Amino acid sequence: MLCLSCGHDEQSLGPACSDCGSYVGYVADGRGYLPQLKVLEVGLAEGRITPEESEQRLQRLTGALEALVGYMDECGQGLMTLQWDNVQQGTLGGFMMPIREGLDSLRAAVDQLDSHGEWGDELWAELDAAQTKVHQANEGLTVLTQTLAGYAVEQGVDLEKVFDPPESEVEPEAANAE
Ligand SMILES: [Zn+2]
Repeated sequence: MLCLSCGHDEQSLGPACSDCGSYVGYVADGRGYLPQLKVLEVGLAEGRITPEESEQRLQRLTGALEALVGYMDECGQGLMTLQWDNVQQGTLGGFMMPIREGLDSLRAAVDQLDSHGEWGDELWAELDAAQTKVHQANEGLTVLTQTLAGYAVEQGVDLEKVFDPPESEVEPEAANAE
């Protein structure tokens, strides 16, 4: 999970960034970036965080969400290359689409956040709804990919290559090692 405070990609399960010590929340609790946004809003209200820094953090988050949506699209394209029948591809695509939609509405909600804070109940409800959608869709996808992994093994497909995490892009050495 990206630390919105320093931009470090935090690999631990939380709750603090191992680079700058900022609160990032717990990776596994399904709340995603919302705890960091709450900390940001409170920090702004108390004057501990400047609007400029807030703007930077919100841009980091928008960028991260855009990257995730792009990653979902790449996965979708990767699926098209597999030798699965239409039903299997359609099923997996049907599970991925809600995540993409959830991430996209989360990004849209974050876009509306004023860098001076005071985001109000309505915006928080919007953030909450989008995050809940992402979380629930993610859980559905996990179950489904476990099922489809069985088909993949039968067909000699390396499912991990299809769902290769985006980090591989920054580590070309690792990608070339095979
Ligand atoms: Zn950090």
